[in-house]
Amino acid sequence: MEFATFADRAAAIEAEPADLEIVARTSELLADAGDDSEERGSADSAVEPQTVEIVARFVQGRVFPAWDSTKLDIGPTTCYEAIARAAGTNVGSDDVEERLAEVGEIGAVAAGYEFGGQQGLGAFTGGGGGNGAGSAGGNDLTVREVSETLADLAAAEGSGSQDRKIDLLFGLFNRCSSEEARYLARLVLSEMRIGVGEGTVRDAISEAFDVPVERVERALQVSNDYGQVARVARDEGREGLDELDLEVGRPVQAMLAQAGTVTDALEEWDEAAVEWKYDGARIQLHSDPEAAEADAETRVFSRNMEEVTDALPEVVEFAEATLEEPAILDGEVVAIDENDDPLPFQEVLKRFRRKHDVAKAREDVMVRPVFFDCLHAGGEDLLEEPLTTRHERLRAVLADGEAPEQDEDEIEGLSLLWTTDDPDEIEAIDAEALEAGHEGIMLKDPDSAYSPGRRGKHWRKRKPDVETLDCVVTGAEWGEGRRATFLGTFELSVRAGDDLETVGKVATGITDEKLEELTELLEPHIAAEEGQAVDIEPEVVFEVGYEEIQSSPTYSSGYALRFPRFLGVRSDKDPEDADTLERVERLRA
Ligand code: ATP
Repeated sequence: MEFATFADRAAAIEAEPADLEIVARTSELLADAGDDSEERGSADSAVEPQTVEIVARFVQGRVFPAWDSTKLDIGPTTCYEAIARAAGTNVGSDDVEERLAEVGEIGAVAAGYEFGGQQGLGAFTGGGGGNGAGSAGGNDLTVREVSETLADLAAAEGSGSQDRKIDLLFGLFNRCSSEEARYLARLVLSEMRIGVGEGTVRDAISEAFDVPVERVERALQVSNDYGQVARVARDEGREGLDELDLEVGRPVQAMLAQAGTVTDALEEWDEAAVEWKYDGARIQLHSDPEAAEADAETRVFSRNMEEVTDALPEVVEFAEATLEEPAILDGEVVAIDENDDPLPFQEVLKRFRRKHDVAKAREDVMVRPVFFDCLHAGGEDLLEEPLTTRHERLRAVLADGEAPEQDEDEIEGLSLLWTTDDPDEIEAIDAEALEAGHEGIMLKDPDSAYSPGRRGKHWRKRKPDVETLDCVVTGAEWGEGRRATFLGTFELSVRAGDDLETVGKVATGITDEKLEELTELLEPHIAAEEGQAVDIEPEVVFEVGYEEIQSSPTYSSGYALRFPRFLGVRSDKDPEDADTLERVERLRA
C-alpha cells in the first residue's frame, strides 16, 4: 500500500465525526491493506511485518507492536530539523517552530511545506527498506518503506546516531506530498490523533475480517499486538485468533485498579479477596527455565512494558533460584531495609530504571519482588481463570517443591491473599498492612479473570481518605508484648455541646517511634486505669482519616468511623477546637 493511500484514508477518518463511521472506514482500510495478495502467507511476520500489520499500528500512531517498548527516540527538535531540511534551503527549524506556535499542530505545519526539491541530497533517502533514493517528491513511498525506515531509525545507536536519525527522517519527508507529510510527522511524534483508539481498531478488525469482536478482544489481550491480530484474523479467521496465546518474554498490559470502598466491594461481591498494597513499582516477570541458552531466561518489565531486567538483578536471581517451570507473574518490586521492612516508594525509584552503576545502586538500596498474580504457568494461560485459582497456581509456582507443607507466609515472594465477607476482618488486615509499613490494602473480586490493560471494578484500591476529622483523645489501651510500655488503640471523641461523645478507636497508621512519642504526650493526662484500659483527660487532638461514617450503637455518639487512621497530632488545636458531632452528622449525610 502506498503511504499516500494511507494518508488519504487517515484524512478521511479524521474528517469523520461519527464513531461508527470511523470504525467502518478503519475497517475498509484494513481490508484493503489485507488484499495485498503478494504478501499473503509470506515470510515470517516477526521479521518482516505484512502491510496489514503495519497499517493496524500506524492508524493508532504506533510504529511497533504494543508489547514492544522500542522507541524512535526522536525529540520534536529532531523532527523539526528533518522537516526544515526537506522543505528547502531557505527553511530553518525555527521557521517550523514559528509555524507550530501559530497553528498548534505539527501535522498541519508539515502539510504546509512543499517537499521534494532536495534531490541533491537524495543519498540520504531510503535507508533500510527505503530503496527509493532519488525519487524525491515521487508518490511511490509505501507504508512498508516508512515502517522499515523508522525501524532503522529506532535502531540507530551510539555516536552520530542523532545525525543518522535526522538523515533517515529527512529522506522520508523529502519523498512526501503535503498530505503524507502531515501523517508522517504525527506518526513520528506519536500524535496521530485521527480519532482511532484501541477499541476502534478492535471493532474494525472484527468488521473487516468477519470475526467475533470478543475473540478479537481476547486475542489482543494475549498477543498485545494489533498488527498480529489483524493479520491472523485476515489469514486464519476465528480459529487462528483462538490459537494465539501468551508468550513468555512478550509482556502483556497490566490489569489496573479503581478506587473503592470496602462497603461497595462487599456489596458487589459475596466475598472480597484482600491483599496488602505494596508501595513499590509494578513488575511483570517472564521466566523460562527451559529457554535455549542463547535466549534470556528471565526478563522483567515495568507497568508500561519497558524492559527493566538489567536494573533489577535481585528479581532475576530470585526467579532463577525459585522457578522451575515457564511462568509469567505479576507483582511489585519493593525497596527494603536491612530488617526486610519496606521503604517508601521513592527508594525503589532509585533502582527501577537505572541503566548504569547498578551494582553500586544495589549496595545503596535493596529491593525484593512480591508477586500477587500468575498469568501463565507451565505452558498454560491462566488469564481466564478466577483470581483464587490463579493465586493457587502462584503459590505452587513459588513454593519450595521440597517442602510441601510450607505455610503461605513462609513462601518467599508470595503476596498473601485472604478471602472474607467480614468488614472487621478486612479492617484488621488493613491495620496489619499499615503496621508492616505497606500502603494499605487492595480488594479484588475473587471470581474475576485477569483483564490486561483494564481499570475495571474487579480490582479496587481502598479509597484514600476524602475528609479528615480532628478528634479529642479520651482513652487508650496499654499495648501488649514489645508494646507493653506504650499506649495504643486511642479512643476518639467529638464535641457535642459541652460534652464529648465517642466516635471510634484508632490503632492504625502509627509506627513504634510515634507510639513512644504519643505515650509521652498522653501519659501525664491519664485520669483512671482499669486493666489495660485508661481514661484520658481531654487535652490532645488527633487528626484522623476514615473511609466512611456509619451509625453504630458501639459508641456514645451513635456513629462509628469506619477504617480510622491516625494522621497526626493537631498540636495547634485545643479540645475546644476539635470537630463536632454536628459535623460528623453532616459528613455522613
Ligand atoms: P494508577 O494505577 O491509578 O495510575 P498508581 O500507579 O499510583 O496509579 P495505584 O492506582 O495507587 O497505582 O495502585 C495500583 C498499583 O498498586 C498497581 O499498579 C501496583 O503497582 C500496586 N500494587 C501493590 N500491591 C498490589 C496488589 N496486591 N495487587 C495489585 N496491585 C498492587
